Amino acid sequence: MAWRFALMIDPIAADTSRADLADTFTPVDPAAPALTVGELSTQRGDGIFESIGVVDGHAQEVGPHLERLAHSAQLCELPAPNAAQWRAAVELAAAHCGAGESVIKLILSRGVEHGPAPTAWVTAAEASDFSRARRDGISVVTLDRGYPLDVPARAPWLLLGAKTLSYAVNMAALREARRRGADDAIFTTTDGYVLEAPTASLILRRGDTFVTPAPTAGILHGTTQLSLFEHLEARGFAVAYETIPVDTLPVADAAWLVSSVRLAAPVTAIDGAALPVDAEFTASLNAYLLSPRD
Ligand code: PLP
Repeated sequence: MAWRFALMIDPIAADTSRADLADTFTPVDPAAPALTVGELSTQRGDGIFESIGVVDGHAQEVGPHLERLAHSAQLCELPAPNAAQWRAAVELAAAHCGAGESVIKLILSRGVEHGPAPTAWVTAAEASDFSRARRDGISVVTLDRGYPLDVPARAPWLLLGAKTLSYAVNMAALREARRRGADDAIFTTTDGYVLEAPTASLILRRGDTFVTPAPTAGILHGTTQLSLFEHLEARGFAVAYETIPVDTLPVADAAWLVSSVRLAAPVTAIDGAALPVDAEFTASLNAYLLSPRD
């Protein structure tokens, strides 16, 4: 992976309006050390982040990503991000991305123990090549997430709807999926409902209706899923948020894992049972996702 840019941000209050933000940004060498050893994001995973897809220098869906960053900040009781400041930082990073696909990451950390708090930074890097996953698809296994559907309401301190930096569980689930011979995973609740993938949202097709698990279930509300639902509606399809029982997965007409950088990966099999893949339709979804979107 090639780094393209990194920028430390001195976060300003959400309600501050500043014409010139330049003195709140410090470009740094992305390959050089930049964080102090007291960083709580590295010590405890105590912070939030966003990954934004960039196509030919255009950062996709910046507004929805900044809205989700603000939502995560609220859930984690971090200071509200200043949208204009973060947007300016994303623009600076996008200007360094050039042709092809890149990924911009926004990180807002609790800060440094006994030091500046919060801390924030933005990075830009070349994206991995996901053309095979988009074209040939991915196999998935269902993995128990270990709690029932109603847990987010009962235990909000689990921060289930926030995109926190604590992704060790998500990465462990991906390793387990690979151990079981699959490419990816779909998390399920202990009472038998479908949630999301460790780094993507799930969309199912039933006839001309596209459904995804309701984000009230303590999953992330995916910006890619939101954007695709808008696109599918414009094409005349019906879309819906549902509580989806795991045992209905095999009867789906098609399924995709969708996310900001890999985009739409068609699911070829769930727990070893093959699922139909419509290559032409999937290509049309990815063509839309690769077009400039705001
Ligand atoms: N769910 C989880 C757990 C994720 O980590 C992600 C993205 O990384 C998504 C869903 C999809 O979100 P988006 O489409 O905004 O990338």
